[in-house]
Amino acid sequence: MTETLSERLFSEAKNLIPGGVNSPVRAFGAVGGNPVFIAGGRGSRIYDVDGREYVDYILSWGPLILGHGHPAVQGALTEQVSRGVTFGAPTALEVDLARLVLDAFPAMDKVRFVNSGTEAVMTALRLARAYTKRDVIVKFEGCYHGHGDSLLAKAGSGIATYGIPGSPGVPAPLAALTITVPYNDLGACEAFLKARGEEVAAVIVEPVAGNMGVVPPAKGFLQGLRELCTRHGIVLIFDEVITGFRLTYGGYQGLVGVEPDLTCLGKIIGGGLPVGAFGGKEKIMDLLAPTGPVYQAGTLSGNPLAMAAGIATLSVLKDNAPFYEVLDRAAFSLCTDIEAVFAETGVPVVINRVGSMFTPFFTSGRVNDYGDAARSDTAAFARLFKRLLERGVMAPPSQFEAWFLSFAHTAEDRDRTIEALRGFDPYGDRS
Ligand SMILES: *Cc1c(COP(=O)(O)O)cnc(C)c1O
Repeated sequence: MTETLSERLFSEAKNLIPGGVNSPVRAFGAVGGNPVFIAGGRGSRIYDVDGREYVDYILSWGPLILGHGHPAVQGALTEQVSRGVTFGAPTALEVDLARLVLDAFPAMDKVRFVNSGTEAVMTALRLARAYTKRDVIVKFEGCYHGHGDSLLAKAGSGIATYGIPGSPGVPAPLAALTITVPYNDLGACEAFLKARGEEVAAVIVEPVAGNMGVVPPAKGFLQGLRELCTRHGIVLIFDEVITGFRLTYGGYQGLVGVEPDLTCLGKIIGGGLPVGAFGGKEKIMDLLAPTGPVYQAGTLSGNPLAMAAGIATLSVLKDNAPFYEVLDRAAFSLCTDIEAVFAETGVPVVINRVGSMFTPFFTSGRVNDYGDAARSDTAAFARLFKRLLERGVMAPPSQFEAWFLSFAHTAEDRDRTIEALRGFDPYGDRS
């Protein structure tokens, strides 16, 4: 068979970039085969360099809730490009996006913009440690909070995909300050805090886990964390980098009525440009330089292009807030149809879904934490991924990721997906 352009580019890339990619999961390492190189995207579809079209359920790992190339976002970007792309000085755009974010997150008094979710989380932890004058961080197994040193212990996303137990290069004394507890296990968290709560600066959690595949919080889990943190004087951090503006106009915290002390954002608030943000109670946020002594800075922080794309995205979402319900119904119907197709072939599959984020797991039990997710059949998932890819559907190339729907997805996209799965048995003919 002749080499595709994607294959040729990947061979070249591997000589130039470690693994040929700038973020590990993109390499298709967990599902096998050659990653496809993307030439463009429009609405719910992306196109590879060999001219093949795919229904896109990755959506750049979450940011593109409006789909690819939404006219409002494109327009805002084009206009800002003509004015200038970066100044390293304050702009009105930062004030506008800050106001939009703060209005949507009542628990946040102030917010600061950075360049990635990783940066947001790193600084939120630094603030929590400075505020409490304590060092220990509690996180949950399978949750991913970016690649900061303190947060790679038992993390999700690429760490789970490649089965990396933490990461070499993180000093042991630092790693020892991060304690991991199973997701949804309030009792384990309570027991740890009872013993060592006075050492703990922050409890950080994805209010809906998205990086071990989608795992919803158990009833009372987030409320329980709030109570424990208040009792022990610990800063509660919600990492809403995925869930912010994904499930409602605002955060999951608004849907469950739990107020964290700090919130981390990213993905959707940048409309597809590199962005992150963290915010929360004024008494904590004002510890940041230049008001306070906790240092954080960024050459491109609050970048005008990222702000413009974020403002455009949030404005469309705000004007179309009822559409979240439409999206929820569309995701429900897609997941129901996928379940029905697998029921026909008798293949056990569990689909966890919260609004427009979902993950199919090949397992017969419930998937309530990372242990459950890890027990699902990742080889079957790899065969599912390959089947879909061959038939023009781009799923995330790992069991441990969320699939997303956008405002641009249609019934036709759903039909193509269901047709691609009809008659497919991940345990059947493997030729
Ligand atoms: C993507 C993600 C991050 C990291 O954001 P980057 O912009 O990739 O650094 C942090 N937390 C969660 C929950 C994420 O999904």
